[in-house]
Amino acid sequence: MARRARAATAAKKGRPGAGDPGEIVLLVWTDYVGITRCRGVPVAQFKDRHATGLGWAVAGQALTPFEDIADNPWGPMTEVRQTPVLATETRIAIWDDAPAFHFALCDSMLAGRNWDCCVRGLLKDALADLESETGLSLAAAFEHEFLLSGNNLPWIVPFSVEQMRMVAPFTSDLTRALLIADVGLETVEPEYGVRQYEISCGPAIGVAAADRCVITREVIRETARRLGFRASFTPKPTPTSVGNGAHVHFSLVDAKGVNRTFDAGQPAQISIAAQRFAAGVVRYMPEFCALVAPSPVSYLRLGPHHWSCGYAAFGVQNREATIRACPSPDPAKSAKAFNLELRPPDATASPYMVLAALVRAGLEGIRQKLPLPAMLDRDPADYSQSERAALGVRPLPSSLGEALDLMLASKTVSSWLPDVMRDSYVAVKRKEIEMFAEATPEAMCQRYHDAY
Ligand code: GLU
Ligand code: MG
Repeated sequence: MARRARAATAAKKGRPGAGDPGEIVLLVWTDYVGITRCRGVPVAQFKDRHATGLGWAVAGQALTPFEDIADNPWGPMTEVRQTPVLATETRIAIWDDAPAFHFALCDSMLAGRNWDCCVRGLLKDALADLESETGLSLAAAFEHEFLLSGNNLPWIVPFSVEQMRMVAPFTSDLTRALLIADVGLETVEPEYGVRQYEISCGPAIGVAAADRCVITREVIRETARRLGFRASFTPKPTPTSVGNGAHVHFSLVDAKGVNRTFDAGQPAQISIAAQRFAAGVVRYMPEFCALVAPSPVSYLRLGPHHWSCGYAAFGVQNREATIRACPSPDPAKSAKAFNLELRPPDATASPYMVLAALVRAGLEGIRQKLPLPAMLDRDPADYSQSERAALGVRPLPSSLGEALDLMLASKTVSSWLPDVMRDSYVAVKRKEIEMFAEATPEAMCQRYHDAY
């Protein structure tokens, strides 16, 4: 195992860190397949890149998570400027044996605005529409489930103290690193899967929520890497193991950041706006599944009885529903803490696309004044098919191919993406399907485990 990190900064000890000319700032962006790509500049030159960033050939947007690229409309000439968003700059310098982990997230800019296929721009546009039509924004927090491997980690009893203490140097470095990254760290815990862990952070408002997700994931990966582990966020490590979700807790907030999701006088204490928003999400969930569970392997995770979600349904504290309402156990905190949870997403999705789809679906529910869906108090799979039909509960697609077909057949959902983004996104996703058409589920899981 690599040497332990120390609390004191590396710079103070004369090790790599501030003042080290070898330090690199990574300009990073997240693409269609949810991979964080990067280019680097020497730290001394970072300032010169603040305004115009670095060029990047847009054909790269057609990359799969593997060493393949889908057919795309872009030639060898077109490029965007990957331009750092300075508020996202993150620098962690706690390791003795490595220079600082220093990066900034980027907007992909073309002619002074976000490029049509920039996922960060997609989310900004969705949020701007939500705000202009309702006066509301979205506060959101992703949950991060992942699996550790490496260092000959043995089988460990799930949820146990053993599972935490077996990797105590990792969890302690991770806590330190995430506190420095200022992502609102709340909990560090063992999960149900063997060698599976979970990190939860507090909500951030607007595009910062997706930024926070990317920063948190990359800091988790780096911390694992420094100690000789590997963290994998793949939706399904093997066909039979526990899945990794990337659930999103969200609430609607007003311009002052006040939670507008709670209303004590309404069914399930959900405000009218949030009822309509939730209804839109449930209504369009099968059609936008391809944006939040976007890999062939995602469909080994989704399904009933795994708490991952198999149906477009709604319920209070129902972990088998697409939307789980999460009232606070403390009535004094209800108004502030009340939130809803979107459960189908996984980490092969771009967090920007996840939140953009969530906002678009919710806004559609608000526009159409959709009523709150039926509140299910059981696993939707436990109802008969005719009961589900009567309750308006539809199954989620069972494969990525089906999910893409449903998306394309929906005029509403297809319109959420600019044409060039939708077509190129679908091409990348169809390429992934084609790559694994002949593969066994085991081999496919292994490839996604290694990529994510
Ligand atoms: N691991 C489950 C999933 O794939 C979620 C378990 C939980 O509720 O935390 O979504
Ligand atoms: Mg969990």
